[in-house]
Amino acid sequence: MRRPFIAGNWKMHTDRVSAIALAEGIADQIADIAHIDLAVCPPYVYIDAVGRAVAGSKLGVGAQNMYHEAGGAYTGEVSATMLLDVGCKYVILGHSERRHILGETDAAVNRKVHAAHQAGLVPVVCVGELLEEREAGQTLQVIRTQFEGSLAGLSDHQMTKTVLAYEPVWAIGTGKVATPEQAQEVHADLRKMIAGQYNTQVAESVVIQYGGSVKPDNAAELLGQPDIDGALVGGASLKADSFLGIVAGVKA
Ligand code: PEP
Repeated sequence: MRRPFIAGNWKMHTDRVSAIALAEGIADQIADIAHIDLAVCPPYVYIDAVGRAVAGSKLGVGAQNMYHEAGGAYTGEVSATMLLDVGCKYVILGHSERRHILGETDAAVNRKVHAAHQAGLVPVVCVGELLEEREAGQTLQVIRTQFEGSLAGLSDHQMTKTVLAYEPVWAIGTGKVATPEQAQEVHADLRKMIAGQYNTQVAESVVIQYGGSVKPDNAAELLGQPDIDGALVGGASLKADSFLGIVAGVKA
């Protein structure tokens, strides 16, 4: 049985005071929620403060990226153990903004996924096609290439402990949301890819989030699809009310 998982990706937003207030505003309202995993992913520099602010609550904390090396002369980078040290449980890897703005490749994402598992972090691995790729009928091929490249070499156990996020790039931060049918189709394809590479049992246990302009008013329909197990939320995660409105879209 897969547990729904809703995570907020705060990107390069908030400041110290607003990050703590936002996390506390969410944590205060979720004490009675037992059937959903919840997390926020602040910018690196606020993770520690946010983690302390929500310690003991049901709100988990994640990072938006990390480096694959365990330590050393890598100026500006942050390791998986450092993230664990400041209270992270999750790390988003291969977000489309990192792939398309910062040039991150599937091979780089794959190194990070392995390093995250080795350290004990749950990687949330993003895949998704560009608008021109969808319009050219290449969605499935793009997703397959990202899936195979980013997740190569994982054991069955590591795969079951990996969260996937299908985020069509054309729906991120644009207000254009994939229809529930479009999202479900790709989620089902992803689950088939997992079954093909691993087995049905592994495929049935992997949590696959949808991301791309999820809001309180479209969450229930998206999250009601059989293969959509949660949401990775950008813009709407920056206000406690809208994040909680999305959480409310998960069936009890
Ligand atoms: C994201 O950045 O992962 C995302 C889905 O953003 P938004 O919800 O703003 O589209």
